[in-house]
Amino acid sequence: MLAQVRAHLEYQQSTGLEDLPRASAVTGAPRPSPPTRLASPAATLAPAAAPPVPSARNSAAPASGDLFATTTLQRAGTLEELRAELGDCRRCKLAPGRTHIVFGVGNPGARLMFVGEGPGRDEDLKAEPFVGRAGQLLTEIITKGMKLRREDVYIANVIKCRPPENRNPEPDEIAACQPFLLRQIEIIKPKVLVALGTFAAQTLLGLRVPISRLRGHWYDYHGIKLMPTLHPAYLLRNPNDKKLVWEDIKQVLRELETSA
Ligand code: URA
Repeated sequence: MLAQVRAHLEYQQSTGLEDLPRASAVTGAPRPSPPTRLASPAATLAPAAAPPVPSARNSAAPASGDLFATTTLQRAGTLEELRAELGDCRRCKLAPGRTHIVFGVGNPGARLMFVGEGPGRDEDLKAEPFVGRAGQLLTEIITKGMKLRREDVYIANVIKCRPPENRNPEPDEIAACQPFLLRQIEIIKPKVLVALGTFAAQTLLGLRVPISRLRGHWYDYHGIKLMPTLHPAYLLRNPNDKKLVWEDIKQVLRELETSA
């Protein structure tokens, strides 16, 4: 029981969550929720349907551009240095079961960054995110849908080691990896972040709101526009929902065009 409570608290801490947001009964879209109050970085909540961006920046959190002042990762100024800092990571219980750490791949100066959940079997073997079936679909979205090259964007995951049997990442694992993902984002400074699926969206936003309600709305993630959308693995099982992702991706394309 105590362990469960602790795990829950750790999860909340890892996601920057203290207050559960209330749902908007009218639109089905998440309301701008009150400021989160944790030291862990979380997004400013700014769903597109909401009135002007609320001044919801976490008063306890560091200001934008200074997300990691309290951690040694701040010293890493490049992705290579950050990778070196990660080393042969043993910070969580996933380490013994992995083949490779899957750090991330792509253009370090990318204007568009995708964040997924965590490596599966193919990714674990190849040390590269999104190379399995879901990865092929993501690559199609990037190349055929967005007319970009995969190497133009940056792709990373919430956790960098494969969980056993591809189970969901656990709170302590997310918490151990989160500073590295956040520093990756800060180094890359993309114009747009796309959070793929529940874990990426909830981790970055610090919210436990279903992806079905988060998707399709813009959020402000420390000055970076963040669009949650459905995970490609979900789309493999629910191909009818590809049209929803395409709607989200069109919004992303428009944003990239206007912020050129
Ligand atoms: N699913 C993810 O979330 N990430 C990967 O890298 C592969 C599949």
